[in-house]
Amino acid sequence: MSETGTADRLIQFIREEYRTSDPIPLHAPAFRGNEQKYVADAIESTFVSSVGAYVDRFERDIEAFTGCERAVATVNGTAALHIGLRLLGVGPGDLVVTQPLTFVATCNAISYCGAEPLFIDVDRHTMGLSPAALAAWLEENAFVDDDGLCRTKQAQRAIRACVPMHTFGHPVELDRLVDVCAIWGIPLLEDAAESLGSYYNGRHTGTFGAVATLSFNGNKTITTGGGGMVLTSHALGARAKHITTTAKVAHPFEYVHDEVGYNYRMPNLNAALGCAQMEQLAGFLAAKRALAERYAALLDGNEYQFVREPEGCRSNYWLNAVICEGREQRDALLGQTNGQGVMTRPIWALMNHLPMYEKSIRGDLSNAQWLAERVVNLPSSVPPAQL
Ligand SMILES: *Cc1c(COP(=O)(O)O)cnc(C)c1O
Repeated sequence: MSETGTADRLIQFIREEYRTSDPIPLHAPAFRGNEQKYVADAIESTFVSSVGAYVDRFERDIEAFTGCERAVATVNGTAALHIGLRLLGVGPGDLVVTQPLTFVATCNAISYCGAEPLFIDVDRHTMGLSPAALAAWLEENAFVDDDGLCRTKQAQRAIRACVPMHTFGHPVELDRLVDVCAIWGIPLLEDAAESLGSYYNGRHTGTFGAVATLSFNGNKTITTGGGGMVLTSHALGARAKHITTTAKVAHPFEYVHDEVGYNYRMPNLNAALGCAQMEQLAGFLAAKRALAERYAALLDGNEYQFVREPEGCRSNYWLNAVICEGREQRDALLGQTNGQGVMTRPIWALMNHLPMYEKSIRGDLSNAQWLAERVVNLPSSVPPAQL
């Protein structure tokens, strides 16, 4: 089959899945449950912003679903990352390990703390941070000081945290990463923005490190319009709640704040949307998985390699992806699909190529580079319900 032929069949398949001749987006939200009802109820209650029953309910829903001890809702996923890093004590001059293949929010949050990313390569089969590459880099370039803090040999800079990201919902090799981080005394923060509903060895992503964060932006598996969540322990969760709510000391009427806090709370209106979305999450995940299986069946044996969940993992298949044979084939596929109103996208520009992070410390990044030249995301919205 020629490349044009496969791309044409792919376009036809996608049009049949979404049953429309209109432009097809990469990931549109689905509102098929109690969204209108709960949002109307929030308005009715007059509790639309910083406090309200839906915020608490949404947090408890996420705790029950993921199995984390404590979930704290935030205004977006980037704010959750910022708070997560603060919980781990990340501050000015620190280094934070992360992958170059991620959405810019991961690195922005590191910058907000006055810290700098330290880029380590990804594995090709997970597209996320490589434990082997991290171990090798640390072996050569780092040591653990007398206080148990990991530092670079060269400038003795503290490596304060490690932030892997579960690309498109596919979990990184968490067991090995947890081990490497433990050996080197580096706290783990999972950027699980894309992996709600993804499991590693039967355990939900975002429950392996000291902290994890979720995003409920409009393009994620479920949405609150804008929103995020910090997943952590009871102790760090209490601190996260405090600093995301202006660090106000509980009092019936006095305004007293005991440190510089943030106004990072999720409004009750958004949480109302989130509660309705949570009721449909299991159905969304099943539908997305079935779609991924149909993509895989269509593309098996063709020149575009469909990205499957890593071994031992159950992925949410947030964004479906193929790996092309090379850049030319990738660009041809992007051109043909977008030209016919089927939205596809290349993976993000590598973070170390952005002007803010051009000079950041890095290891060898050849897998990230290899993937960046080949990956194309395919439309992944929950398809319309079967009639
Ligand atoms: C979506 C996303 C975030 C958070 O984004 P917000 O728009 O701030 O909610 C963070 N990291 C990754 C990898 C993401 O995909």
